Amino acid sequence: MSGESAMESAAAVENMLGEIAGVGRASTGGYQRFAWTREDHTLREWFRGAAEAVGLDVTEDRVGNQWAWWGDPDASLRAGRPGVVTGSHLDSVPGGGNFDGPLGVVAALRAVDTLRRDGFTPARAIGVVNFVDEEGARFGVACAGSRVLTGALSPDHALALTDGDGITLAQALTAAGRDPRALGRDDEALARVGTFVELHIEQGRWLVDEGSAVAVASSIWPHGRWRFDFTGEANHAGTTRLADRDDPALALASLILTAREAAATLGCVATVGKVRVVPNGVNAIPSAATGWLDGRGADEAAVRRLVPMIEQTLGTRAVEESFTSTTRFDPALAADLAGLLGGAPVIGTGAGHDAGVLAAHGVRAAMLFVRNPTGVSHSPAEHAEAADCAAGAAALTTVLRSLAAS
Ligand SMILES: [Zn+2]
Repeated sequence: MSGESAMESAAAVENMLGEIAGVGRASTGGYQRFAWTREDHTLREWFRGAAEAVGLDVTEDRVGNQWAWWGDPDASLRAGRPGVVTGSHLDSVPGGGNFDGPLGVVAALRAVDTLRRDGFTPARAIGVVNFVDEEGARFGVACAGSRVLTGALSPDHALALTDGDGITLAQALTAAGRDPRALGRDDEALARVGTFVELHIEQGRWLVDEGSAVAVASSIWPHGRWRFDFTGEANHAGTTRLADRDDPALALASLILTAREAAATLGCVATVGKVRVVPNGVNAIPSAATGWLDGRGADEAAVRRLVPMIEQTLGTRAVEESFTSTTRFDPALAADLAGLLGGAPVIGTGAGHDAGVLAAHGVRAAMLFVRNPTGVSHSPAEHAEAADCAAGAAALTTVLRSLAAS
C-alpha cells in the first residue's frame, strides 16, 4: 500500500480537477464543454497527457471515445481476461458543474496511479475511458459516444443530428479534423471491456441523508423525452384584443403545469426544461411554441402513463423523442462491490450514464456514487468535498485491485 495520507490523496484529486477548472468556464460560473468544440479538444488533449503521465497508452475507437490502457487489452482478451475499465466523461451540460463527469475520469486516473505506485500487478488490462458527448448538450442525444459504440445509435442517425446553429454532427466532426465516415459501432473496442465501473458524483441527496461518502448503483430509472408542438397565430402584442388571440404560449404554460401535476399524481418526476417560442419577440404574440418534456421515475409503468395523462388534459399529442427502460446493473457485481467497500449502500438513480448504455448492451457494469452535499447537479452549485472525492478514488482503487487481481 502507498503510505499516502487521506489528506495527500484529497489534494491530488483536487489538483487534477484544478488542471481543467479553467476550461470552458462561462460568465455564469458554470461550464460550457460541448462535444467537438475547442473546449472539448482542450479536455481531450488534457486527458491524453494526464493518462500518459501515469503510464497509460491512449487509443481511440471509431466514435472518438478515448481509451487509456495499462497493459495490452488485446493480449488480455486473447488470454481470456478481458479488461477492467473505469472512467466517465469530460463534456458538460450548459452551465454545468466541474464534477459531473470529470470526477469519474480524475478518480480513475488517480486509482490507476495509486495501484502502479503500490507495485500492483494486474492479471488483466486496466483501462480508463473518456466517453465523448455524454450529456448530449450540443446534438440532443445523451450518451451519444457510448450509444454509437454499442450500436444503440446508428451512425447515419448520429451524423445527421444538428446543434443549435444548424451544424450537423458530420460537419462538427469534419471541423474537428475527423473523418465522419469512420463513425460507427466498434465491437473490437467493446470486446476489450470485460467489466466497466463508472464513478460519478451523486446527482441527488441520498448519500447526504445516508451519511455515507460512497454508494454503489443498483439501477438507472426509466427515462423518456417527448416534444409538444403548439401552433397559433402571430400578431401584435399591443393591438390584438385578448379575445382575438390564438396564443400557443398559453398551451405551453398549460403543458408545464400539467406535467408537474401528472408527475405528482403518478409518483415520478417531470420537467419542461427546454422551450422554443417563435418568433421569440417580447412584443409579438407567438406563432408557435414547443416544450420538451423529460420524464423519469422508479416505476416504469408510471413513467409510461405520464404522457398519455398530459395529452388527455391538453387535448394534444406528443412526439416521443426517446425512451429508455429501466437499466439494471449486474446485481452480483453490485453486491460484490458493496461488500468490498465495507457495506456501502446500494441505490438507484434518476440520471442516465454511459455505464447504463454499456449495461443495456450486456456489458458487466457497475457504478459508484460520491456524496454531493447540496444534491444539486447540472449547475455551478454542484459540489463534492475533497475528502469525499478522495474516498471515491480510494473506493475505486479497491474495486480495481479486486477486479484485476485474477
Ligand atoms: Zn455525468
